[in-house]
Amino acid sequence: MILGPNNFIACFIRFIKKMKNFREVELRMNDIITPDRSCIPYSKKNVYLLLTIPLMLLILALTVFLFLINPILSIIYLSFWIGANIFQSYCCEFQECPYTEGFCPAVAGIIPASRIARLPVIRNMKKSKSRFEVFATFGSLCLLGLIIFPLFFLIELDVIYPLGYFILILFYAFLFLWNICPVCAIRKTCPGGLFSTRLRSVLLDRI
Ligand code: SF4
Ligand code: SF4
Repeated sequence: MILGPNNFIACFIRFIKKMKNFREVELRMNDIITPDRSCIPYSKKNVYLLLTIPLMLLILALTVFLFLINPILSIIYLSFWIGANIFQSYCCEFQECPYTEGFCPAVAGIIPASRIARLPVIRNMKKSKSRFEVFATFGSLCLLGLIIFPLFFLIELDVIYPLGYFILILFYAFLFLWNICPVCAIRKTCPGGLFSTRLRSVLLDRI
């Protein structure tokens, strides 16, 4: 059967509704913060490295690209990555993530967050759900900035570059959510893990 525009829209609306229903269940789950000890140590280290090393090379290439246009641009770009590490470090500590002590499967290679989380300045901060949400939001905004910022400069080269870049990012995000999060100890509290569970549930339901 060929998927016409109406069918496609109906499918998309069903997908959004399912994701929304799942969100209601997950909000209740969110009250309990218990890392899954059976996922320690992290089991998919090789898959994680296979996904993360190319991404870090891409970030490095974009930093050089922006530096060649104007060094300030590369500093702005890198500050998104650094900001994501700093904001995430509070979330690592708040979630009592066991990976702060060892291998950490952090999204976008923000592994330093797990080490910053061990510093007294973060450990001694008051733990509160509202503060966690604020830090998680700022961390996510930094990651969003990291993704979007280069687009403005890539588009000036040729439309094919931002398009290719965007496809690569989507590919990375999908593979990460599909492979890395499901075996992570804090998937029931981390926003990425919750989204991954939701995505898998909705898509597997359709297959
Ligand atoms: S897996 Fe995520 S929450 Fe856990 S230490 Fe690494 S960055 Fe922090
Ligand atoms: S659930 Fe996913 S995004 Fe969250 S800490 Fe684990 S691997 Fe990273």
